[in-house]
Amino acid sequence: MIIIITLGKKEGSVKRADGRAFDELRPIKIEAGVLERADGSAYLEFGGNKVLVAVYGPREFHIRRFQKPDQAVVRCRYNMAPFSVDDRKRPGPDRRSVEISKITSEALAPAVFLEKYPRSTIDVFIEVLEAEGGTRCAGITAASVAMADAGIPMRDMVVACAAGKADDNVVLDLSEKEDKEGQADLPVAVMPRTGEITLIQMDGNLSSEEFEKALDLALEGCKKISEIQKDALKTRYGE
Ligand code: UDP
Repeated sequence: MIIIITLGKKEGSVKRADGRAFDELRPIKIEAGVLERADGSAYLEFGGNKVLVAVYGPREFHIRRFQKPDQAVVRCRYNMAPFSVDDRKRPGPDRRSVEISKITSEALAPAVFLEKYPRSTIDVFIEVLEAEGGTRCAGITAASVAMADAGIPMRDMVVACAAGKADDNVVLDLSEKEDKEGQADLPVAVMPRTGEITLIQMDGNLSSEEFEKALDLALEGCKKISEIQKDALKTRYGE
């Protein structure tokens, strides 16, 4: 009898630094309605990320020059707590948080029936309590649950997830290490029912083939996270 022993690793068995498969998400947990005073709220844990979101509105936009006469405006404030990262983060806004606040409102707005609320604002406060790579996606995903919890009429939820390239592999949901040391990061937000993409950013380099693969992975990841968003709302409001 001849026994052949294969020493090479099989494609499916090759793992990442944290032991995940290339297409595996970090563990994710979402709870809706965690804050008494906000109109809507959500708490999300995604790997080592911990994010709390409070939503107010729609309510009158007091800064009249920023009002839109025919629709509401979604305003976001993304903030990282000083204790959320290894090197203490200087409190207050910086270029990065201003950018993330802007792209988050742009990612969420297409899902809302803004035209129902002229001259109004919907205020979304995203507080990152702990960060471990992918906080903008975690913030968008949690914010969408908090908006639904606030009873804001929406066409669809918005769900976000990144893919990218680390150690020459196209991988789903980059950890902080993969984000910082990897070759590319591709955060994507999508409305899962219609498939409409509301955010796509890219940091680093990907060939067009790798880009397609990363985008498919990110969209698959979004689908899975979307089920967890739905479960969080079902748990709060029943089936
Ligand atoms: N980060 C940090 N200090 C900062 C900003 C970010 O340590 O001041 C870490 C944090 O873990 C974050 C990661 O770097 O999640 C990646 O940041 P990036 O700007 O790519 O945004 P994110 O991936 O969080 O959306």
